[in-house]
Amino acid sequence: MSYDVIVCGAGEGGLFTAAILAKKGFKTLVLEKKSHIGGRAMSIEYKPGYIVDYGIHSIRYGKKGIIPTIFRKDLGIKLKLLDYGKGKLYRKGEWYEIPTDINGFMTTPLLTDEERDKFIPLFMEIIRLKAEDFLEVSVKDYFKEKIQSDALWDLIKLIAAGLMVTPDIERASMGELIDGLKQVISAGKGATYPQGGWKGIFEKLIHIISENGAIKTNNPVKKVLISNKKVEGVVLDNDTKILCDLIVIAIPAQKIFSILPESEFPQSFIMTCKNLIPSSGISLDIGLHEPISNETGLIAVDTPMSLGAFTSNIDPSTAPQNEQLFTFLQPIPKSVADNPKQAKILLTEMEKLITQMFPALKIKIKWKRPLIIPVMDGAVNYIGQTRDKRPKIKSEIIEGLYFSGDTYNGPGLGGDIAPSSARLCAHTIVADFSKKEIPIA
Ligand SMILES: Cc1cc2nc3c(=O)[nH]c(=O)nc-3n(C[C@H](O)[C@H](O)[C@H](O)COP(=O)(O)OP(=O)(O)OC[C@H]3O[C@@H](n4cnc5c(N)ncnc54)[C@H](O)[C@@H]3O)c2cc1C
Repeated sequence: MSYDVIVCGAGEGGLFTAAILAKKGFKTLVLEKKSHIGGRAMSIEYKPGYIVDYGIHSIRYGKKGIIPTIFRKDLGIKLKLLDYGKGKLYRKGEWYEIPTDINGFMTTPLLTDEERDKFIPLFMEIIRLKAEDFLEVSVKDYFKEKIQSDALWDLIKLIAAGLMVTPDIERASMGELIDGLKQVISAGKGATYPQGGWKGIFEKLIHIISENGAIKTNNPVKKVLISNKKVEGVVLDNDTKILCDLIVIAIPAQKIFSILPESEFPQSFIMTCKNLIPSSGISLDIGLHEPISNETGLIAVDTPMSLGAFTSNIDPSTAPQNEQLFTFLQPIPKSVADNPKQAKILLTEMEKLITQMFPALKIKIKWKRPLIIPVMDGAVNYIGQTRDKRPKIKSEIIEGLYFSGDTYNGPGLGGDIAPSSARLCAHTIVADFSKKEIPIA
């Protein structure tokens, strides 16, 4: 069987690229190293009746978000999204509503009247700025002259961290934050959840790809074959060769030289790929014998910055009836994630914090899934690694070689980068191959 395109990696980047291309008539083969698809967004039935994502996974900006947009515009499918309720902040032992609009900011007890008078004009100023002009300005540098109050700074960090989910918000790109805030305002919402969990998203992608191609799990790509600066195909782990002159690498940029020969690429490109900084995290999923909370919104803590939700309150299909699924995530520096002893200590502290917030939870635990996550977002939205500072979608060196995933170019915050780069990648390929007048159905 011959294919028009081979996609290496079945994470979001690979599967969205493959689905768009398959829909456009490209015979598509997806090769995945592991026994399951989904990569870092995998979603499984972890225990009978529990559909559990890999850490808290939501979709930004409702139907205006990149994933629903791809489904609607490229794949012709309307994705059903579920709204979260009002978000809550747990701060120094007290609960607060998280303000999400001007009305909320006008009344939140998180600010004094004096701080409020400073915050509102500042917020109005920010959302009028052009994101592109501030991509390489850090959040810290932008605000350093403008904010003196700790409470104001904490609120800005909370808003920024809610959108960007990083262990060090001060290094994040102000331009990406501006873009994110504008999108929340335009969409009228921040986060939503896909009905049926992320498992449902992947099932739809598998269906589309299978109609014009195949996904093969347990099939690691060992090597990409390159000759005379053109791709020729791939070699699998069992030394099978599959020839193809169009290859999409959808594995994180830091790892691509495990399958690409460094000798074919300039040192600057190799270093850009290898030096990208990911975010890391710890996560705890908990199955509960019976419901202990009616909260339907996101639950945030400001110190240490963490985020969670009772997922089954938003989508009851993610837990058995009369039981409950809770998930909580804390971004941590990569150096801590790489030190299991330290990460385990943080996990224990996180569980203590959760039981402090929800004392009833402790005696209702049915199962727990603690996770140390070495790579959360492949390249955090820090200055120096925004959009086109990341590797480009199309190789400028090797003909027929393209890249997709959250470490490559593509607009958006954190989790939006993989699907937005996938869309960019698929559209670039379609445009390139149309120019060559290769028939596309
Ligand atoms: C805990 C956590 C929470 C998150 N929260 C959110 C969220 O709320 N919203 C959101 O939108 N995003 C979120 N994200 C981010 C999102 O999950 C990632 O950005 C996205 O999954 C990255 O997809 P990718 O395809 O770029 O990479 P990956 O998911 O890493 O996919 C790469 C794939 O390539 C495979 N592979 C590697 N080497 C080979 C090889 N040699 N041959 C074949 N296959 C290979 C891997 O096994 C993997 O399946 C979160 C991530 C984590 C970890």
